[in-house]
Amino acid sequence: MNKYVKQERFHGIGQLGQKRLRESRVLIVGVGALGSMSAEMLARAGIGQLTLVDGDFVEEHNLQRQLLYTELDAKAHRAKVKAASKRLQEINSEVKVTEVFHSLHNENVQQLLQGIDVIIDGTDNFETRLLINDAAYKWGIPWVYGGLSGSYGLSLPFIPNRSGPCFRCLESFLTDSEDCDTHGVLGTTVQMVTAQQVTSTLKILTGNKTQSSMYKFDLWENDTGYITVQPLKQPSCQTCGAERTYPSLRSDQSKRHIQWLCASSGVHIRPKEAQNLQLPRDPYSNHSWTYFPFADVCMLRKANYHVMLFQDGRATIRGVTTTNEAELLYDEALAFLGEQV
Ligand SMILES: [Zn+2]
Repeated sequence: MNKYVKQERFHGIGQLGQKRLRESRVLIVGVGALGSMSAEMLARAGIGQLTLVDGDFVEEHNLQRQLLYTELDAKAHRAKVKAASKRLQEINSEVKVTEVFHSLHNENVQQLLQGIDVIIDGTDNFETRLLINDAAYKWGIPWVYGGLSGSYGLSLPFIPNRSGPCFRCLESFLTDSEDCDTHGVLGTTVQMVTAQQVTSTLKILTGNKTQSSMYKFDLWENDTGYITVQPLKQPSCQTCGAERTYPSLRSDQSKRHIQWLCASSGVHIRPKEAQNLQLPRDPYSNHSWTYFPFADVCMLRKANYHVMLFQDGRATIRGVTTTNEAELLYDEALAFLGEQV
């Protein structure tokens, strides 16, 4: 009996649908809570190719809701894409998994979208979602939004050739619905949002019609329903309106790129241009640098902060409360390298 027999018996998929899934390529942006669960469900469903994009590491506080990861992954500071890929291959070796150990940004998005059939949003910030949205509408690729806070969740597929609003049209409405990290999150909320995102993805890939209203629920309050989003369409939208400029795809080379990471209370810094840093490979007695050869990454621990510095000059800084603080630590880490090499 083939491993997809139950799925093939389902009226919306069938053998033809299963064949289409096997020929499909899905890009998952962010393999944290939403992204790792989506990746697992799609691997089990027999998707042909999965590309995982994430520049972060597994941490212990992820394990409550990020199902692909283990304590061992957190202890080893494994890159999420590495840990996820290994587990996905154990789950279904037929799926081709591509790891991209980098965040999505306006300079790598076009190349990463080559040949992709659907993009799944596994991010935790609006900036990246606006970038996904601009890229999806410019190159005509459907994408599936998922958002959550506490026990509350939202999901909606965006289909570029459909008449409804795009994510940019809904931005102000959605900003009020999500609150970053202050209310925490239930692991079950993640599963509920992912169930919606993956179902929408399966429908798109098998040629079925998807919902055009936004699904919303509150698991704790036993509340569920749909929000009609059609009236929120903005005719002057820069992504889906008459004059499309796709502002998130424009790149500003004149300054560092700084992005707050919602779920992990950190800051991601990308330099104006890629560097070629000589990272210290041996431990220093008076500095707490640790080198991780698998990814060419160094970690600097200082008081309650830690800085993950990549060979190309990117850094993720945790424990800070302001952008200034993050930049000072980043500069300090670079200066330290300058003294040593
Ligand atoms: Zn729009």
